[in-house]
Amino acid sequence: MKKQAIIIGAGIAGLATSVRLAAKGWKVTVMESSDGPGGKLRERVLGGYRFDLGPSLFTLPDLVDELFRLCGEEPASHFRYKRLDTICHYFWNDGTRFHASADADELARELASHFGEDEDAVRRYARKSGYVYERTAPVFLHQSLHRLKWLSGPVWKGIASMPFLPFRGTLDLLNRRSFRHPKTVQFFNRFATYNGSDPYQAPAMMMLIPHLEQGIGAYLPEQGMGAISSSIHALASRMGVEFRFSEPVTSILRENGAVQGVETARGRYLAPVVVSNADMHPTYRLLLEGDSAPERLLAQEKSSSALIFYWGIRRSFPELGVHNIFFAEDYQAEFDAIFRQRVSYSDPTIYVNITSKEVEGDAPSGCENWFVMINVPHQSGQDWNAFRHESRSVMLKKLSHALGTDIASLIEVEDYLDPVLIETRTSSYLGALYGNASNSPFAAFLRHANESTMYRGLYFCGGSVHPGGGIPLCLFGARITAELITRRYP
Ligand SMILES: Cc1cc2nc3c(=O)[nH]c(=O)nc-3n(C[C@H](O)[C@H](O)[C@H](O)COP(=O)(O)OP(=O)(O)OC[C@H]3O[C@@H](n4cnc5c(N)ncnc54)[C@H](O)[C@@H]3O)c2cc1C
Repeated sequence: MKKQAIIIGAGIAGLATSVRLAAKGWKVTVMESSDGPGGKLRERVLGGYRFDLGPSLFTLPDLVDELFRLCGEEPASHFRYKRLDTICHYFWNDGTRFHASADADELARELASHFGEDEDAVRRYARKSGYVYERTAPVFLHQSLHRLKWLSGPVWKGIASMPFLPFRGTLDLLNRRSFRHPKTVQFFNRFATYNGSDPYQAPAMMMLIPHLEQGIGAYLPEQGMGAISSSIHALASRMGVEFRFSEPVTSILRENGAVQGVETARGRYLAPVVVSNADMHPTYRLLLEGDSAPERLLAQEKSSSALIFYWGIRRSFPELGVHNIFFAEDYQAEFDAIFRQRVSYSDPTIYVNITSKEVEGDAPSGCENWFVMINVPHQSGQDWNAFRHESRSVMLKKLSHALGTDIASLIEVEDYLDPVLIETRTSSYLGALYGNASNSPFAAFLRHANESTMYRGLYFCGGSVHPGGGIPLCLFGARITAELITRRYP
């Protein structure tokens, strides 16, 4: 008889775990509260415009390809993507504009010519970023931190290099020591936001993030980000995974120290293995109600959240690319507002993502699909209606000024997403995008493990557990969780 598992949640980590178990011959059922797969990684069509609702930056696409290969399928037959030559267009309030090339040498030349940066310093930083990533990934990303395979070569290599890794100081401090120009420092500080952290608190180790973009590459699926989850969902379905949408799990059934299955409003579903892809907070507070929870882990600082406007714009802007950043003048004050005061900021950094630059059909001819986002605090009792209205006019004013045209008059269709909706739609605690923030140097050690120590057969995957949030980390996490399960139930 086939081994059986139930997965709670069809987020990217739940989907990937389902594929990995199905590829090993397991019978897998995925229970999902909402009406379709993807969790934060979903899309929506509004008027003639298609919008990716959540993630927009795609790195480490091999992790998606690997899922197809595990199932004996050729990835390119189902999921195609292209590498971006220019990663991001940057704009500053003083009129400075800068295009960040995907080529590390070209980037060094550009930073030197725009900001008088030392080209060699940029190249040294890029090499160090790659070194830190290569040495830390085997320890922190490729396996369970809680069940480390100490004897593996890459783990030893990673541990042996610890004295040479930037454990001390913040990312900002490291960047200020590495570069001359404040705009270069701001450029490299921004990478802390890739996991919802604050560069003025986050450890210097975050310097590994640029390597993902500049060293390995930034990509865009040919049919937009939504294709990541829809193609993995289709793969899982071909592998026989059963999906039960619009069926929230209300409880994880457990008896004598082992899980028995799950309960929903429609009944009980039995299986000896249950994987929760739901955020750790609702997993403990709701699904494991009555049990003692790991309060210290649950109390860790949460990542930032986001306020996004989806605007169908009836004009095209040749000066914009797929990814665009309109920087705040005082970056530190912005992060102070987000992480310490937890309020809106008067001159926010605005990120504009326009997939219609590359994906045909994402907007009507001559128009663009703008995903316009600012980083905001996670929920802590703010008045989000007021926050949204205030931020919308600040954002419109800033973009109109930078682009020299009235943006409000170009908006044809509109929708929005805020921390309340993020929590309501995906059960992400406080609307945090990436689970815990990585502001503490110990953050990697303070995420929940992928396997329960309380119940046999209970496992966890997704942004709120090891190794953390963001598409690549969730996919690494799915690999770790599936390996733990298949090792325990060979
Ligand atoms: C606006 C935004 C922008 C982002 N930008 C990027 C980016 O550019 N690049 C990047 O890599 N990452 C980005 N992220 C982060 C990334 O989207 C997440 O880290 C990742 O998608 C989380 O996946 P997950 O597997 O943890 O599940 P989630 O997407 O959190 O999904 C969990 C699923 O579980 C379901 N669920 C919860 N409770 C239950 C229950 N009781 N019963 C049944 N189902 C349940 C939910 O409905 C949901 O579908 C962004 C996120 C957001 C919101």
